[in-house]
Amino acid sequence: MSATFVGMPAFPEAARAATGDAQLRHNLRRATHTIRDKRAAVVGELDDWAGLRAAGKAVKDRTLRHLDVYLERFEAAVTAAGGQVHWAADAAEANRVVTDLVLATGERDVVKVKSMATQEIELNQALAEAGITAYETDLAELIVQLSDDLPSHILVPAIHRNRAEIREIFRDRMAAWGAPAPDGLGDDPRALAEAARVHLRERFLRTRVAVSGANFAVADTGTLVVLESEGNGRMCLTLPDTLISVVGIEKLVPTWSDLEVFLQLLPRSSTGERMNPYTSTWTGVTPGDGPQEVHVVLLDNGRTDVLADTVGRQALRCIRCSACLNICPVYERTGGHAYGSVYPGPIGAILTPQLRGTGGAVEAALPFASSLCGACYEVCPVAIDIPEVLVHLREEVAGGAGHRAERAAMGAAGWVLGDRRRLDAAQRAASAARSLAPRHLPGPGAAWTDTRDLPEIPEESFRSWWRRRSGPGEGAR
Ligand code: SF4
Repeated sequence: MSATFVGMPAFPEAARAATGDAQLRHNLRRATHTIRDKRAAVVGELDDWAGLRAAGKAVKDRTLRHLDVYLERFEAAVTAAGGQVHWAADAAEANRVVTDLVLATGERDVVKVKSMATQEIELNQALAEAGITAYETDLAELIVQLSDDLPSHILVPAIHRNRAEIREIFRDRMAAWGAPAPDGLGDDPRALAEAARVHLRERFLRTRVAVSGANFAVADTGTLVVLESEGNGRMCLTLPDTLISVVGIEKLVPTWSDLEVFLQLLPRSSTGERMNPYTSTWTGVTPGDGPQEVHVVLLDNGRTDVLADTVGRQALRCIRCSACLNICPVYERTGGHAYGSVYPGPIGAILTPQLRGTGGAVEAALPFASSLCGACYEVCPVAIDIPEVLVHLREEVAGGAGHRAERAAMGAAGWVLGDRRRLDAAQRAASAARSLAPRHLPGPGAAWTDTRDLPEIPEESFRSWWRRRSGPGEGAR
């Protein structure tokens, strides 16, 4: 049975433990900075990036506004092309559908293409309970599965591991899952990739059922699209007899012209490439070519509730590129496990509480797992205003009283900052009483000052210093 996020502590506790792990922080810093630099370079090449970003946002918003229409159009197109569409209201229903479909083939092994949707519903665990073994074939997912670990990044689930750790995992665990690691395996990336290739090749050639997700689903033609770097997905999508794809209902795009926008946005934002090496598309069944039994499970699992929230629904635009994780100063220090969900980082902090509700301790803590610096919004290729949704969810978690107190504090600050004389008077009063200023706030404010230092109030404000230095009249400007 593979590991799950169930029972993980809430973010503050989990983050405290993670930030104390120097090796983890080193691995994360190195990996996130490498990817973010690559992204910045390839995004900077395009003069029309802002236009592409606006187009991506507009396409997704339009699709979400008419999602019912596009979903039915997609279903009709898949059916006409020889595929079968199944609707799943929640994780339990999706797991039941997939399990029944696999059992009906008589097979007990499935190969998997990397998929966030199947992780979200914990499909591997459900299949295991029915006696079916799911084999992850994405290299990073393979590392996570072999080590009975949990993913910590959307794109690079084993980002928290370094090469030496991966070599040890391959040496210790590969044989239990199939072809063993070669003798004398080193930690050179080529050697590690070759060991994974040999291990997986044998699996691809003898497994008759595959399970995938999809990056996009084109409503007009019923086409599913998977973007990947390694080619392992392509093997799963073409070699088996039966292909089952679990697809979140927000993955729809209306047409191939719309898809073209995302094929520019996603690779540059995720892997920092102009184009990813493998883009697979399939439409129902093609006689004599590829899987002859094709199923699509359309997954809701809380998404229509998110759609009903006029502020929070923008999270459904997400194309899972992970640019927001790679730029986030909080993620860089805590890693993904601290978020207690398959969706870590800034997008996880807004998506998980919306999909699962804010009633649990893990979900209620997530909207606060951010400094609100806004870097995530800046890099998001579909312009999701993550800070706006975080504040919106904080209001929901804090309830009316917390919201009113914050509003009152902001109102008072706005009154002082809105007038030069009031600001002068407030700064003089603060300087005069600086020795009395508390280092820790009482009551609800204690939660803030327990983990942060209040800045010291200077003896003299900059404005007063400037006036004294420049003579009368200057300070009035
Ligand atoms: S929220 Fe935006 S930046 Fe983050 S994973 Fe989704 S699309 Fe990428």
